[in-house]
Amino acid sequence: MTYLDTSHRHPDMTSMMACAHCGERFKKGEALYNRMRKEKPELFVREKPKFEPSEKLKEMHGQLVDRVKHDTAYRDHLYKSQYGTIEEQNKEADLANSGFFKKNGDYRGIRIL
Ligand SMILES: [Zn+2]
Repeated sequence: MTYLDTSHRHPDMTSMMACAHCGERFKKGEALYNRMRKEKPELFVREKPKFEPSEKLKEMHGQLVDRVKHDTAYRDHLYKSQYGTIEEQNKEADLANSGFFKKNGDYRGIRIL
């Protein structure tokens, strides 16, 4: 927005508006902005980025859900990691980082986590 590039420096919007030089330009900029919004509303429509999970991600999610259903130790781990005390959370993080859940648990399905 070139109207706002006034070459003045103001600490905030309020003092900028109070400045004769900037306030004037700000108003022009605002008027231009409002006019554009009215005349070309399509320019102001932001497309929301769509989240499309990849096949790989869907597969990982499926496996995770499956493991949580069948592996009680892992379920317990996730629960404590999320809702446990700080000590429990730290302990679970250490366990996970040591690869404990890659080797242990009663889940016999494919392990990716
Ligand atoms: Zn100014």
